[in-house]
Amino acid sequence: MSRIYLSPPHLGVAEEAMVIEAFRSNWLAPLGPHVDAFEQELSTYVGTPHAVALSSGTAALHLALESLGVGEGDSVWVSTLTFAASVFPIHYVRATPVFVDADAESWNMNPALVCEALDEAGRRNALPRAIVLVHLYGQCADIAPIAKACQRHGVLLIEDAAEALGATYEGRMAGSFGDAGFFSFNGNKIITTSGGGMLVTPHAHVASQARLLASQAREAVQHYEHRHIGYNYRLSNVLAGIGRGQLQQLEARVTSRRAVFERYRACLGDLPGVSFMPEATFGRGGMRSTRWLTTLTIDAARFGATRTEICEALMASDIEARPVWKPMHQQPIFAGCRKIGGDVSDLLFATGLCLPSGSSLTTEQQDRVIAVVRSCARESNAAA
Ligand SMILES: *Cc1c(COP(=O)(O)O)cnc(C)c1O
Repeated sequence: MSRIYLSPPHLGVAEEAMVIEAFRSNWLAPLGPHVDAFEQELSTYVGTPHAVALSSGTAALHLALESLGVGEGDSVWVSTLTFAASVFPIHYVRATPVFVDADAESWNMNPALVCEALDEAGRRNALPRAIVLVHLYGQCADIAPIAKACQRHGVLLIEDAAEALGATYEGRMAGSFGDAGFFSFNGNKIITTSGGGMLVTPHAHVASQARLLASQAREAVQHYEHRHIGYNYRLSNVLAGIGRGQLQQLEARVTSRRAVFERYRACLGDLPGVSFMPEATFGRGGMRSTRWLTTLTIDAARFGATRTEICEALMASDIEARPVWKPMHQQPIFAGCRKIGGDVSDLLFATGLCLPSGSSLTTEQQDRVIAVVRSCARESNAAA
C-alpha cells in the first residue's frame, strides 16, 4: 500500500504542454510570455486589476507590506491561527506583529473582537498600520465588518489568501477585498507551480512598486540603475506555464476537494465528539469554502481517543495527517508579542486535525483513512 499524503500536487496535461512550449521557445527564466499571461489570467479569475507573479506567497506578502509603505515602528495585526509565513514578512520589514484570536464559527480572525480592539486603539491613538487577514483552510474570514473598520480607521488591509484561491465571500473571490492580497502555489496548495506566489491589488502603484522590488530594483533604463534595495522574487517563465495549466483546472479541483470533505462528513460525522470545521454562514449566501483541507476537532472524552492518538494511528498506517496550525502566540520565536482575545485558537490547536484532502485522493485511499479514524473511536473499541 502506498503512502497517502495530506495535500500532494495534482498535475494535468495542460501544464505539460505549457512547459514543453517554454522549453521549445528556449524561454525559461526570468519572466517571459507565460508570466504575463499567468498574471492576466489570474487577475481576471480573481477580479483584481493588477497581479504580480512571484517566487512564493511569502515573497508576495513581503512585497505587499513594503510596497504599501509598512515598516519600522508600525504594528501589524495578524490572525494568530495560521502558518508562520503570515507573520515572518512583518519582521522582514521591521514592523511588530500583534496576534488576534479566531472565532469558532469560521476559525478565522474574530470580527467583533478585532473591530472593538480597533475602536479602542483609535481612542488611544495606537492604531496598527495594517491588518493581515488570513483565510484559513480554504474559507474566507468575515471580511466585510473588518474591511469597514479598517476603512473607518485608515488601516491597510492585506488578505493572506494563500490557502483560499477559489474561495468566495459575498460572491466575490478571496484576495479581491483588501489593499493587497496574495496566493501561494507551493506544492501543497490547491494549485501549484512547485513553488510560487501571486500578489494582487487594486492599486497600480503597489503593483508597479512590487514589480520593481522583485526584479532587483532595476530602474527602467539601459544601464543598471538602483534607487531601492531590491529582491530576486520573480516567477520563472517555466513555472508560470505550470501555473497557467493548473489554473484551468482550479474549479474542478475545488469540486474535488469539496467532495472529499463531504465524504469524510458522511462517513465520520456520526462518531461522538467529531465536529467538522463549519462552513460559515456570513457573507450573505455568497460564501464558498474550497475545503482545501478537511479539518475537524476531536472531543477526546466523547470520542475515546485524543487528536494526537488519531494522528499517530494514521501515521502508523502510512497516512499523513497533521494537527491544526499551532497559533503564532504559542510559538517560541514570537514569545512576548501582544495578543488580542481569548483562547479559541488554543482550543482549535489542541483538538484540531487535518485529514488527507488532495484532489487526486481516490475512494480507496479515503476509505483507508476513514477506517483508521473509526478504529480509534470508543464505539469501535467496545465493539471489538
Ligand atoms: C502556504 C502559506 C503561506 C506561504 O506561501 P509560500 O508560497 O509557501 O511562501 C502563507 N500563508 C499561509 C496561510 C499559507 O498556508
